[in-house]
Amino acid sequence: MSKNKIIVIGGGYAGLRTIEKLAKNPKNEITLLDKNPYHFMQTEVYDLIASEEDFAQVTVDLYTFCTGFNDNVSFYKQDVTSIDFSNKKVITSINRFKYDYLVLAVGSRTKFMSNVIGLREHAYGIKALHRAMYFKQKFEMSLFRRVDESGTSCHALNIIIAGGGLSGVEIAAQMASFSLEFYSHNHFICRKLNIVIINSGDHILKGIDEKLVQKSNKRLKDLEIVIKNNRKVVEVTKNSVKLSCGEVMHMDFIIFAGGVEPNHLIYDLNIEKNERGYVVSNKYLEIPNQKNAFVIGDCTSIYNEANEAIAPTADTAEQMAELCAKNINNLINNKPLEVHKIKSRGVLIALGRSYAVSKIFNMYFSGYIAYIMKKAVERLYAKKLDNRSRIGSNKIFNN
Ligand SMILES: Cc1cc2nc3c(=O)[nH]c(=O)nc-3n(C[C@H](O)[C@H](O)[C@H](O)COP(=O)(O)OP(=O)(O)OC[C@H]3O[C@@H](n4cnc5c(N)ncnc54)[C@H](O)[C@@H]3O)c2cc1C
Repeated sequence: MSKNKIIVIGGGYAGLRTIEKLAKNPKNEITLLDKNPYHFMQTEVYDLIASEEDFAQVTVDLYTFCTGFNDNVSFYKQDVTSIDFSNKKVITSINRFKYDYLVLAVGSRTKFMSNVIGLREHAYGIKALHRAMYFKQKFEMSLFRRVDESGTSCHALNIIIAGGGLSGVEIAAQMASFSLEFYSHNHFICRKLNIVIINSGDHILKGIDEKLVQKSNKRLKDLEIVIKNNRKVVEVTKNSVKLSCGEVMHMDFIIFAGGVEPNHLIYDLNIEKNERGYVVSNKYLEIPNQKNAFVIGDCTSIYNEANEAIAPTADTAEQMAELCAKNINNLINNKPLEVHKIKSRGVLIALGRSYAVSKIFNMYFSGYIAYIMKKAVERLYAKKLDNRSRIGSNKIFNN
C-alpha cells in the first residue's frame, strides 16, 4: 500500500489540528518537524505569568503527543532552514525530508524593531516560552523585593507594557490583579505597583469590537492601569523608556507586545508574500505556484470576501488547519478543493483574575461568566491534547 508522505512544519495550534485530522486516514504518513520539543499554549501566557499555571500546564510534549496516534505520525525536533519546492524536500540543519504534501505552519515571532534603540537588549517578549519564563521570574522576584523592603523603604514597582493589543492588555490586567491579591494577602504595606500601557493608536485593542474595547478600558482603569495612547517607545535603557512625545519614564522592566513578524524561515523562502512579509495563500490555502504545498496559521495572511485581512488567532489557525487537512485529502482522492470561509467565531479577553469580557456569536458577556467561558475553551483544548498524549505515554512506557 503506497503511503501519502505529509510533512507538517510547526507544532502550534495550526499544525497540531492538521495532524489530528489527517491522521485519521491510515494511508497518510505524517511527519511533524518543530524546532522545539513542545507545543506552547500561548493563549494561556497571562496565567503563566501570574503563577496560576506552571510551565507544564502550558506545554505539550510533541514526541508523546505524536506517539499517541496509530503509528502513522512521527515527530522530529529539528529547525527547518529551507524548503526545496521543486524537488519536494524540506531541509533542516540535520536532515532532508521528502514529501508528497507539505503544510507550512511556523507561526510568527515578536518583532523587536531595530529602529527602537535598546529594545532587543532590555525588553521581554512573550511569544516564546523561554522569554515568558524569564519575565515571569523577574516579575515574581520584583514583587518579593518589595515585600522584603516592607517596613524600611517602599519603592514603587514600575512596569511598562509596549503594545495595547490583545496580548499586552491581557498581561497588564493579569499582573495588576495578581499583585493586588499578592500584596493584600498578609496585608503587606509596600504595595505600590504602576503598570503603564504604551499604545501607538488612539485606543487599545485595535480591530476588536467597540463595546469590548469600552468594557476593557473600564476594567483596566479599575485595576489602576494607566494607558498612554498615540505614543511609541523610541528608546529603551536598563531603567528607562523614552517615548515618541519626548517623555522619559523610569521603569523596572518592560514587556514588548507591540508587534509580530514572520520568522526567519518565511523570510528566506522565495515565495509570494505581502508587504509585511507574510505568505499570501490562495483561496484553498495553497502556497501559490508550489505543488501540493499549503500554508496556515499566523505565518500567512488571509482575507475575507470583502478583501479585509482576517486577524490571526488560535481560533482562525485551527479553522485553517481543518480546511487544509480536508483539501489535502481532496487532492489525494482527486476531488475538487474547497474555498476557505474562515472568520472569527468569537473574542474572549481575560482581564485579571476571574474576570473577562467576550463576544460570542454576537452576544456580549463580562465578569465571571465570561472568565468561565474563556477557561472552558482553554481547558477543552488542553484536554483533547492531553488525551492524545496519555495514549502516547502509555505506549512508550508499556512497551
Ligand atoms: C500572549 C498571547 C495571548 C494570545 N491570546 C489569544 C487568545 O486569547 N485567543 C486566540 O485565539 N489567540 C490568541 N493568541 C494568538 C495565538 O496564540 C496565535 O494566533 C496562535 O499561536 C497561532 O498558531 P500557529 O500554529 O500559527 O503558530 P504557533 O502557535 O506560534 O506555532 C508555530 C510553531 O512553529 C514552530 N516553528 C517556528 N519556526 C520553525 C522552524 N523554522 N522549524 C521548525 N519549527 C518551527 C514553533 O516552534 C511553534 O511550535 C495569543 C497570542 C499571545 C502571544
